[in-house]
Amino acid sequence: MSRVYNFSAGPSMLPEPVLKKAADEMLDYQGCGQSVMEMSHRSKQFDGIIKDCEALLREVMNIPDNYKVLFLQGGCSSQFAMVPMNLMNKNNKADYVITGQWAKKAAKEAARYGEVNIVASSEDKTFTYIPKLDKSTFSKDADYFYICMNNTIYGTVYHELPDTGDIPLVADISSCIMSEPIDVSKFGCLIAGAQKNLAPAGLTIVIIREDLIGNAMDITPTMFNYKTHADANSLFNTPPCWTIYVAKLVLEWIKNEVGGLDKMKELNEKKAKVLYDFLDNSKLFKGTVVKEDRSLMNVPFVTGDKDMDAKFVEEATKAGFVNIKGHRTVGGMRASIYNAMPYEGVEKLVEFMKKFEEENA
Ligand SMILES: *Cc1c(COP(=O)(O)O)cnc(C)c1O
Repeated sequence: MSRVYNFSAGPSMLPEPVLKKAADEMLDYQGCGQSVMEMSHRSKQFDGIIKDCEALLREVMNIPDNYKVLFLQGGCSSQFAMVPMNLMNKNNKADYVITGQWAKKAAKEAARYGEVNIVASSEDKTFTYIPKLDKSTFSKDADYFYICMNNTIYGTVYHELPDTGDIPLVADISSCIMSEPIDVSKFGCLIAGAQKNLAPAGLTIVIIREDLIGNAMDITPTMFNYKTHADANSLFNTPPCWTIYVAKLVLEWIKNEVGGLDKMKELNEKKAKVLYDFLDNSKLFKGTVVKEDRSLMNVPFVTGDKDMDAKFVEEATKAGFVNIKGHRTVGGMRASIYNAMPYEGVEKLVEFMKKFEEENA
């Protein structure tokens, strides 16, 4: 068996021990004679799985008791509607910072339900930086303030959170969840699709402060109301059982094998440094993001020559570095180096890039 190094932005690599464990338990989950894919979501076994998954998520992310954890479907894209439907409930207004396609889509969707104030945008330079925020441009009466924490396509991340005072901060953490510790208490609501850094596709995580639940707009479909899922402990209807099970295995891996999120961050920093250091010294390749806003998870880079980019992507793919082509709006390449990408994957990629540079200089 030979596995490739998969630099996909999502769905992306899962830790090998997790895949092996899932394979071991595939036909017979802990002696119950069936797989997790087949069992009832009301069974004793699945009840154990979803409870363990939530307990682990709370422990690993250090989630305060006054926050609910919801396991939903519909992807993070559904949250672009659920957030305004549930939270635009006093002044029908929210502030958004536009740092890429995902933030833009979220703002566009929110504008269908209320007033959206664009506080800042980095679109002028193809989202290669996080805009400096000026508090005087924040709405005093916004129901919430929205950011996309890690910008998957452009490779930027907020190293500092906006100070929104009493206004709840909502963040899309789809592509940085579990990559390093975050202070959940600074947020009103966190949303994330699981398929970047936590589990296979199909699971959407919402972590929300309890007092923000229960005031959804009247038009909100039952399935889009956070209260529906909070009251039913994410078992109002059939949840994505298999994906929740794999998320539990990934959380066990982070807790027991990696040693928690502080350790995870150390590993991710070490990994990203190899690549960024190389890019900073390369004569052929260069990173597209300003240094101070660089993401640990997504690293876009270019040669400045479309044909050379295409040649690199082709040769890299042949050598087993797959899904390294950049997003069409940036061009070039993007290496997504999520938690499950081993250090040696990045090390080998850099060796390959060095060789390519020598051959094509
Ligand atoms: C992938 C991604 C999304 C979209 O997630 P879906 O689960 O596919 O809807 C939203 N936001 C960010 C930051 C992403 O990386």
